[in-house]
Amino acid sequence: AKKQGRNRYFWFEPSMESEMRFRNQLETGIRRGLARGEFVPFYEQQVDVESGALVGFEMLARWRSPQLGVISPDIFVPIAEEIGLINEMSERLMEQAFADAREWDDSLTLSINISPVQLRDPWFAQRLLKKLVAAGFPPQRLEIEITESCLHENIGLVRSMIMSLRNQGVQISLDDFGTGYSSLEQLRNLPFDRIKIDRSFVSELREPGSRSRIVEAIISLGRGLDLPLTAEGVEDEQILQALKSMGRLKAQGYLYGLPEDAEAVRARLKAAGKL
Ligand code: C2E
Ligand code: CA
Ligand code: CA
Ligand code: CA
Repeated sequence: AKKQGRNRYFWFEPSMESEMRFRNQLETGIRRGLARGEFVPFYEQQVDVESGALVGFEMLARWRSPQLGVISPDIFVPIAEEIGLINEMSERLMEQAFADAREWDDSLTLSINISPVQLRDPWFAQRLLKKLVAAGFPPQRLEIEITESCLHENIGLVRSMIMSLRNQGVQISLDDFGTGYSSLEQLRNLPFDRIKIDRSFVSELREPGSRSRIVEAIISLGRGLDLPLTAEGVEDEQILQALKSMGRLKAQGYLYGLPEDAEAVRARLKAAGKL
């Protein structure tokens, strides 16, 4: 494997056989890693653009594999879904995240990503609410992020689960907005509380003085629908400055630091008097 840019690997002459072997290794590693508690929550800061204040964290799963190092969810979530382990994995991560976040200042929210496969489980909402109660974490401080692709699933079931979560105060965000197809129809189908502007659009703001008509259009759509917005992928000061001129927004991205583990978050919050 050769290193290609940040966190990217490609494989020379990937024969079908070696690919399958690698894939089997991953599968075995995931099963074992789950049993050994190698899947851990990392957290990315979410900030109010205007004031610069920290307002919460998005939980991003990481696999700390003793053999492979730290692995991104883009690799292991699809496999966990395929081999039927995503629910178990996600429940463990949630338990950890609720326990972590309960220690944080009451003003801070926790966002978690939910994959379409998880929403196929008719008991998803009930089990989530039960976990919140067990952890003593207030539903009002929880936000779940759904990608557009979720909404091609059984829409009736998904809607009723979303409704019951919202009734308890959980907020629902539409993640990666603009990248899926029929985004607008999804906004009509489900009662969202927030739109997250996909970072592929946000990154158009990188050039000094540049503007993005798409970002502007998504923001005015959000305002028109009375939905608050979060810009993801805020990587530098240029992007932040451009967003500042666009009114009230939340932001997250590498400008504020890489996602970090619970311990690092605790240290950060302690220093800020928010623990
Ligand atoms: P996402 O929800 O869109 O999460 C944002 C991804 O962009 C994260 O990658 C994050 O590390 C990365 N990112 C954040 N800020 C920046 C930035 O400024 N620039 C760039 N280039 N990238 C940035 P990550 O952690 O690898 O997660 C990938 C995806 O995996 C997530 O995309 C989310 O859809 C999914 N995911 C993460 N955790 C979980 C989980 O616990 N359960 C499920 N079902 N999916 C998860
Ligand atoms: Ca997300
Ligand atoms: Ca996203
Ligand atoms: Ca994404």
